[in-house]
Amino acid sequence: MAVPENIAHFSLPQIQESIRSGDLTLPGLVDHYLENAIAHQDLNAYVELFSAEAQNRAIALQEKYATDPASVGLLFGAVVSIKDNICYAGHQVSAASRILEGFESLYSATVVERLLAADAIIIGRTNCDEFAMGSASEHSIYGPVKNADDPTRVPGGSSGGTAVSVQIGSCLIGIGSDTGGSVRQPAAFCGLAGLKPGYGRISRHGLLAYASSFDQIGMIGRHLPDLATCLSVIGGPDAYDMTASQEDIPVEIESELTEKKRFCYFDFCVDHPGLDPIVQAAFRRKLEALKSAGHVVEQVKFPWSAYLVPAYYVLTTAEASSNLSRYDGIRFGRRSPEAQTVEEVYTRSRTEGFGAEVQKRILLGTFVLSAGYYDAYYSQAQKMRRIVSEFNQELMQQYDFLLAPTSPVLPWKIGEKDQDPIAVYLSDIYTVYANLAGIPALSIPLERDPKSGLSIGIQVMAANFRENALLHLDWIVH
Ligand code: GLN
Repeated sequence: MAVPENIAHFSLPQIQESIRSGDLTLPGLVDHYLENAIAHQDLNAYVELFSAEAQNRAIALQEKYATDPASVGLLFGAVVSIKDNICYAGHQVSAASRILEGFESLYSATVVERLLAADAIIIGRTNCDEFAMGSASEHSIYGPVKNADDPTRVPGGSSGGTAVSVQIGSCLIGIGSDTGGSVRQPAAFCGLAGLKPGYGRISRHGLLAYASSFDQIGMIGRHLPDLATCLSVIGGPDAYDMTASQEDIPVEIESELTEKKRFCYFDFCVDHPGLDPIVQAAFRRKLEALKSAGHVVEQVKFPWSAYLVPAYYVLTTAEASSNLSRYDGIRFGRRSPEAQTVEEVYTRSRTEGFGAEVQKRILLGTFVLSAGYYDAYYSQAQKMRRIVSEFNQELMQQYDFLLAPTSPVLPWKIGEKDQDPIAVYLSDIYTVYANLAGIPALSIPLERDPKSGLSIGIQVMAANFRENALLHLDWIVH
């Protein structure tokens, strides 16, 4: 059966309506997505496609719908990809790392359980940076992911495969994780919307940990209402994650859609040596447009901008060094076949199993936690985090939304920054604030650079539990 034109870009309500009217069947939709995935295999977005399983599930769900249309879940018609650091029972999960190659999960993450219970279909697992450490999806044992807008360039990271899976029209929503920008920045680089909910909004049970007090599951898609529906399904309290918030997720659309809003942005978001003039100009244009539309738009001085990225990397590498200690070839992870002694089991397994970026971060994290340096680095970074959090609380009482570019730069060429890792770390400057403060943040497409055609994203942040306010911003951004 022919599928409607442009089906790969349909929103969930459009898909559901097409199935209802008989223009589309769920198996037809899954086949179409799979064809797109295969046609773009060279972009390396997927580590594995669950083709047969997705097709069978589509047939079963279509039958369920035919028998009783009212019996299907909220995500009926939603086909999603999951990042390769989210556990799915009976399926492999590797965090793009050699140390977990071939590992099959015994249980499913809470998000996976909830997706399936709501009748979503999981189409495959997506490529990413090893243990979600990176900003370009270049640090993966499966090789780099490529940006569909320009395959010589990176799609962002660490959820680069997640973004590209949506970009190429092989699923409706990609589920990723965001510790310091990993959902928002690839969404921006690929011309999509990406939401990092507030810390604790979505259970982390079954997400392979990078830095537990920062990690948050998030999602990438084309349509904000689809992200809102998905959040309402996968978010909320969970007995398996004590950090998951007990607060309900309000589903109602914000009533004040036409009201004038109070926006602010930080000084270093319009004036910073690392800010590409193309991004700067696009961001400034948006600020002006909001002002002209009658909103309040004010600049706020943020005196600690130079400490955001350092504090983030000190704290996250410290947590990573602890979280990743379980992969030792004994408790978890591949054991080196060469090892003769116990000590060799540890050292060889970890040396062979972890890539260079992960090893670097484990070393850095161990260093900043060590007795002699703890006070100089770790506790200083913690203080910085407290300052950010307190500053933010006050800010959010004065403004509805905080704006920032998502990334100071456009997607770079694959391999271009291999020799300059610090530049890559510094490119996280606008995203780590939300993770340090624990607040929700949404990246939405702003403009395309007319010369290169590359996409530029803008980030909107709000106070805790205001994800739905962000997800109903369509009136402002389009
Ligand atoms: N680029 C950041 C890092 O490398 C963010 C990664 C993430 O959010 N998982 O740590």
